[in-house]
This record gives sequence, structure tokens and C-alpha cells, in this order.
Amino acid sequence: MSSLTDNFSRVIDYLRISITDKCNLRCIYCMPSDGVVPAKQSDLLTDEEILRITKIAAQLGVKKIRLTGGEPLIRKNVIPLISSLKLIPGIEDLSLTTNGILLEQQAEFLVKAGLDRVNISIDSFKPERYREITRGGNLDAVMRGLREAEQRGLIPVKINMVPVRGLNEDEILDFARLTLDAGYHVRFIECMPTGGGGFWSPEKYIATDEIRQTIETLGPLESVRARKNGPSRYYRLKGAKGVIGFISALTNHFCEDCNRLRLTADGKLRPCLFSETEIDLRSVIRSGASDEEISRQLKLAVEVKPKEHQLNDTEFLQQASHPTSDSVKRPMSKIGG
Ligand code: SAM
Ligand code: SF4
Repeated sequence: MSSLTDNFSRVIDYLRISITDKCNLRCIYCMPSDGVVPAKQSDLLTDEEILRITKIAAQLGVKKIRLTGGEPLIRKNVIPLISSLKLIPGIEDLSLTTNGILLEQQAEFLVKAGLDRVNISIDSFKPERYREITRGGNLDAVMRGLREAEQRGLIPVKINMVPVRGLNEDEILDFARLTLDAGYHVRFIECMPTGGGGFWSPEKYIATDEIRQTIETLGPLESVRARKNGPSRYYRLKGAKGVIGFISALTNHFCEDCNRLRLTADGKLRPCLFSETEIDLRSVIRSGASDEEISRQLKLAVEVKPKEHQLNDTEFLQQASHPTSDSVKRPMSKIGG
């Protein structure tokens, strides 16, 4: 099996695939209140197209697949799709990022299909606040989904939390404490200016350093050495069973460890979350391209992968704070966060 190595010696072995741009929630930092106009069904990659691209990517050395969205669990036939992805030679790790709303019903089938792990996004443990952040989500359903996922063996469960000033920063310690007695991976994600609805502002944004300082009031964080974490860093509170991760998209350039490509639900290959560069793989496939041509496009995406993103440039952030312009043209639900 060959490997995809970019111009900065990074081995690209991870493909994040958005399987829908639709969602059953409307998180305030992720999309506008009336949602985003979904792509036409015919513009979305079919199961066959996703499988074909993944097979070719696996032949090039991709080992790890994460399904995301939108909300991946609302895609029709997601279970058979997962079963087929799992059978692709070379795919060693198959995971999914979900808001957890449908997890209770689906965990059993996800496990049977061969899913290895889940990331569940939860930004508050207070039902009313959760409802406010997600514009209508039911925290109870998510917590039942989390327990079901654990009981079915989708572990370690990773919990994604986006701290926002004035909204949920007072819960950072509650999330961190979760790792003390259970093996959760709690990951704090810096809020990024990608919402599509002008939510982001410098005042609401909390940098990793500040989140970390807050957590360290519980005790020092020991660094956990783990291979292949991509642009996240892991730590442990003394004696804790779980770990704490930071995804510092804005403040720190962890780009030097970036090992991924992204495929959007409408078939655009994105070398970097924050760059507008996209390769229209859907058009390539639908024009009757051979496997060799698709392979060439995947290699091209790796070749044009930027060294790092420019998201923490002052000018960029100022532009991002303008209520009518979001710095990243596609909202997160359309890229696949
Ligand atoms: N719907 C699924 C979910 O919420 O887990 C998967 C898609 S969602 C776009 C993936 C992740 O992106 C979630 O953990 C979410 O919190 C995060 N996300 C979305 N918008 C974000 C933003 N503006 N800044 C930081 N993280 C964001
Ligand atoms: Fe939906 Fe996930 Fe975006 Fe929330 S973060 S609106 S759950 S895609």
C-alpha cells in the first residue's frame, strides 16, 4: 500500500467524510437559526460514490475514517453504509461524530455494522441551556444515547465541548471532572468563526490557554503521549481515568501534525478545514473517471494541502467578528467539522 505524504512530510492517513449537510439541531455557533439551505439530494454523494472514493483512498494509505455531517445519523441507510465501509481492506478505524440525539436507537446497529467509536457533541449538562445552544435539542435523549453507546462498547466515548463566554464557560470544570472517574475523552474545541450566522465574536471566543487554566484549578494536567492525534493535544488530571483534549484551531498552529483530508457531503475534497480550496470530486466521478483519475485527484489534494491555516491572523479575526460575514464561507455543517 502506498502512502500519501504531503509537501511538508505529513502522512495523510485520515479521511473525514461528511455524509449529509442536514441536521436535526441548529447549534448557535454552527448554523443560522433557520438552518442552511441543504444541497439537492442529487448533488450529494451516493453510498456507492462514497465507497468508491474510500476504497481508492485506502489503497493510497488512508486507514482511518470518521463520518460526520451535518448529523450523520440522519442519513438514510447509514447502517449499511457503515457495514460496507468497514469491509474495505486497509480501513482500520471507523468512527462517527454525532450530536447523540438518535444514538440510543442506533447504537446497537452501529456496533453490529462495525463502528469502532463515537464522538458525542455536548455543550452543556443543563437541559435548558442545552436546548438554547442547540435551539431545541433534548439533553435527556443525548445522555441516554451516550450511556447506550458505552454499554454497547463504543469506547472510549469522546465528548466534544465548545466553550463560549457568557454561555457555558461556567461548565468547563464539570466537563473536566467527568474524566476523573470514567474513561471519557473530553475535548474542548475553540469556537471557530464558521457558523454561517454571524454568531462568532472575539468576546465570546475562549482560547485554549484560558480553558486550560480554568481546568488546572482542579490540579495540574499531565501530558499524555499518544500517537496520531492530529491537531489535538491530550492531558490527564492526576489519577483520572479519562483524558482531556484541546482542539486549538485558532490560537495554536497544530497544523504540523495534521493528517487528514475532508470530503464534503456534496463531494468536494478539502485539503484543509479553513482553506477555500476544494477539488470537485463529484464532477470528476460523474464524468466517468477511472479509479486512476480519482486516485490522481486524491494525490492532488494532498499535494496542495497548505502548511498551515491563517485563521489566527488579526485581520482575519476582525473580519470574522463582523456580523454579516463569516470567515469560512461554508458553515461547519456543510464542511463536516
Ligand atoms: N452533528 C454532529 C455533531 O454535532 O457532533 C457532527 C457535525 S458537527 C459540525 C462536528 C463538530 O463540530 C461538533 O463537535 C461541533 O461542536 C463542532 N463545531 C461546529 N461548529 C463549530 C464552531 N463554529 N466552532 C467550533 N466547533 C464547531
Ligand atoms: Fe448540527 Fe452538529 Fe452543527 Fe449542532 S454542531 S448544528 S448538531 S451539525
